[in-house]
Amino acid sequence: MIVGVQPLAGFDKLLHYKVPETLRASIRAGSLVRVPILNQHKVGLVMEVNGVVDVPLEKLKTVSGLLQDYPALTPDLLTLAKWMHGYYAARMESVLEAMIPGAVRDGTRLKQEKYLSAAHKPTTEELAALRKKAPQQSRLMEFLAHQFQPAKKSLLLSRLAVTAAVVNALVKRGWVREEVRHVERVAYADQWATGEVVATQPPKLNEEQATIVTSVGASLDKGKFAVHLLHGVTGSGKTEVYLHAVERVLAAGGSAIYLVPEVALTPQTVARLRGRFEAAGHRTVVWHSHLSEGERLDGWTALASGQARVVVGARSAVFAPVRDLRLIVVDEEHEPAYKQDETPRYHGRDVAVYRAKLANATCLLGSATPSLESFSNVRNGRYRLDVLTKRVDDKQLPDFQIVDMRIEVMRTRGLVTLSRLLVNHMQARFERKEQTILFINRRGYSSSMQCRKCGHVEECPHCSVAMTYHRADETLKCHLCGHERGAPAVCPSCAAPDIRWRGLGTQRVEEAVRRVLPRARLERVDTDTMAKRHRFREILSDFRTGKIDVLIGTQMIGKGLDFPNVTLVGLVDADLSMHVPDFRANERTFQLLVQVAGRAGRGDRAGEVVVQTFTPKADAVQFAKNADFNGFAEAELHVRHRFQYPPYRHLIHHLFRGPNPEKIKFFAEHWAKEVEKALGNTVELRGPTPSPIEKVKDEYRYQIWYFCASAAKVVPALVKLQATVKWPEDVFQVLDVDPMSL
Ligand code: ADP
Ligand code: ZN
Repeated sequence: MIVGVQPLAGFDKLLHYKVPETLRASIRAGSLVRVPILNQHKVGLVMEVNGVVDVPLEKLKTVSGLLQDYPALTPDLLTLAKWMHGYYAARMESVLEAMIPGAVRDGTRLKQEKYLSAAHKPTTEELAALRKKAPQQSRLMEFLAHQFQPAKKSLLLSRLAVTAAVVNALVKRGWVREEVRHVERVAYADQWATGEVVATQPPKLNEEQATIVTSVGASLDKGKFAVHLLHGVTGSGKTEVYLHAVERVLAAGGSAIYLVPEVALTPQTVARLRGRFEAAGHRTVVWHSHLSEGERLDGWTALASGQARVVVGARSAVFAPVRDLRLIVVDEEHEPAYKQDETPRYHGRDVAVYRAKLANATCLLGSATPSLESFSNVRNGRYRLDVLTKRVDDKQLPDFQIVDMRIEVMRTRGLVTLSRLLVNHMQARFERKEQTILFINRRGYSSSMQCRKCGHVEECPHCSVAMTYHRADETLKCHLCGHERGAPAVCPSCAAPDIRWRGLGTQRVEEAVRRVLPRARLERVDTDTMAKRHRFREILSDFRTGKIDVLIGTQMIGKGLDFPNVTLVGLVDADLSMHVPDFRANERTFQLLVQVAGRAGRGDRAGEVVVQTFTPKADAVQFAKNADFNGFAEAELHVRHRFQYPPYRHLIHHLFRGPNPEKIKFFAEHWAKEVEKALGNTVELRGPTPSPIEKVKDEYRYQIWYFCASAAKVVPALVKLQATVKWPEDVFQVLDVDPMSL
């Protein structure tokens, strides 16, 4: 028996080994094994069994061990790994590292800790003698003599400032007992998931929900691959539909994966799911980036062994080694957070769809604002569309008001942060003891240019994206095609001299609110507060219990939050996401507006939304006001079609970086010519151009965009071409397939 093994230690190559008699029965494709490489033993994953090699058998080395008795990757995951390797042009090693947690790859089973306890109860005289002769020994002995439980050795050493030699001396003398203990960890007892678990009774589904549950149920029962796109306004009961689908799978003995964009930001959703599944006796593994290695190992083992059949988690939970996968839910499928921004640069939603296909499972994508990629898959018949048209209990969607900031600026003849309308509404809420959330749009470059009088933003005539201002040479540049013009001194549209750079921080908004509502209790949530996780939870809890009147933060805090007493939501600056050099800018803005509005009026009282903008007539704003997703999608797909942007073609971003700007530019141009020669009729190139941020950490950056019909064909061709070109040593490159931000 010969196996092909992909090492996980810096060898990007399949190596072949013989398998000893003792391991033959237990090694399978997907198993983690230890193999000799050079003079060391390394961990690797078995990619194929019964491999064929043209090396004589006696020259092959032998597998030296097996890490776990179950394969780390199930057959569908192994196929998925190969697909990701090809599609995202990622090294196999990095793909496997993304899929298999470190603790599993290390072969650690449970964490082991050394513990100390007293083996002898010393008399007062013995202690006195010890104190004189060996003060460190006496310190440890006195401490242990008073302990009922064995104490962790590592902790004692540092806390009592004694050395390991001191412990050894006492062990030798028979006074101290040292033992190794396995430390139990509970994967679901982490700080994000605890505290709020409430076992809730499922509400009776309304008619629309019931129809969709039946439709999804039919796909589940068929046991064939199907994708459903659930489009439902915020608060229409989508989560309830997901829960029913998962329950159906669990009842039939299958497993389900439930993806959310970011676990840390959706504690409420996680608590709700756990409440429901755990009340029904299903251990629920919560999977996210803040888990310790030990917690990860426990959760993984529970899923791989079939002890747990449901996992809730962010992007990487799509690789959970569940048995008999029947369903993958992707909540908020439009969220850019599903895309990983380091290698392998995969998209969690796209991987979910592909994995469901391999497993003959159902993939349930849901959103109040589906991505245009998914929506166009409905149109071309690949996905099935299910729609929830109204909020649960016929609750009204909030009243949506647009403030034209150009008029505000004229009125006050100066810089305005909060419009008169927004201030009036906030004051009224404060009087009535209702709550307000103010969102600040975090996306956006301070380097885009907008006229404060007419709202005009200069766009590239070839690419329909905002141009970026370069202070150094006073120019506006397009970062897709390189088109360039001098930065205008007056507005190109209305000739006003009021053209300026944008940017608004949470702090400035907080100051503005303090001026108009001096007695209100405010809290600000920004990257600083988010870094201290307990603080973020504290704020949410204080907001819920009414200890805070106004919550200020970026749109990140808005996800999935459900506060019944919030009757006003303000968006301070809608434009920041609209005029970034990104063809998805309109889509992002529309999504932002709809999602933000969805936070208002979730309780018994109707909600109101106030959106401040310099471009009130923009499509994204107008369609969002009418909560008209279909209208927006039609209009935007039209634009995408005209410029042949995704979803009509795939986009691949190629970044070149290095210390020497001339060399990078020269090489990028040379490479572009090679691509043109080899792939000119399947790929359209734009660039090379300098990246929006030209210099990062003393490295210069150039980029090329490839537009193509099939990334699955073009990426391997690019990789093949790379092998034929001599790459300079100090030019590094990154390929990003289907990038989510430009
Ligand atoms: P979405 O995920 O679309 O935002 P949710 O599923 O969170 O919507 O539902 C919004 C609220 O309505 C939740 O508090 C949920 O418990 C409740 N809800 C959902 N479906 C029903 C129903 N059929 N009857 C009563 N309440 C429901
Ligand atoms: Zn352009």
